[in-house]
Amino acid sequence: MELTERGTEMKTQWLWVGSLSLALLVVVGCKKKEKAEQAEQAEKTAVSAKVQTTCPHMGEKIDKSIYVDHEGKRVYFCCKMCVAKFKADPGKYVKKLEDEGVELEKTPPAQP
Ligand SMILES: [Zn+2]
Repeated sequence: MELTERGTEMKTQWLWVGSLSLALLVVVGCKKKEKAEQAEQAEKTAVSAKVQTTCPHMGEKIDKSIYVDHEGKRVYFCCKMCVAKFKADPGKYVKKLEDEGVELEKTPPAQP
């Protein structure tokens, strides 16, 4: 009789230790996953935010000396002709660039 009771007690103890270490494993595992997801998210952001390299009108390589500042954003063009096109409908071209994942340069603050 006594032996059986002791056996049961031991089993209960082992069960406790078992569930505790399992819970610990789950917590640690979740933290690791969280970190991996955060790193992945940062990577995605880095990839999606790209600088403007092409003219929004012609799709040609931009000339950094030809640009228009529109609502605090600087938009570059390949030639003056595209600037004229842009000025006719700036919102359309800004949206087009941003839809492509281009992060437009901010207009530098005016020098005093
Ligand atoms: Zn052009």
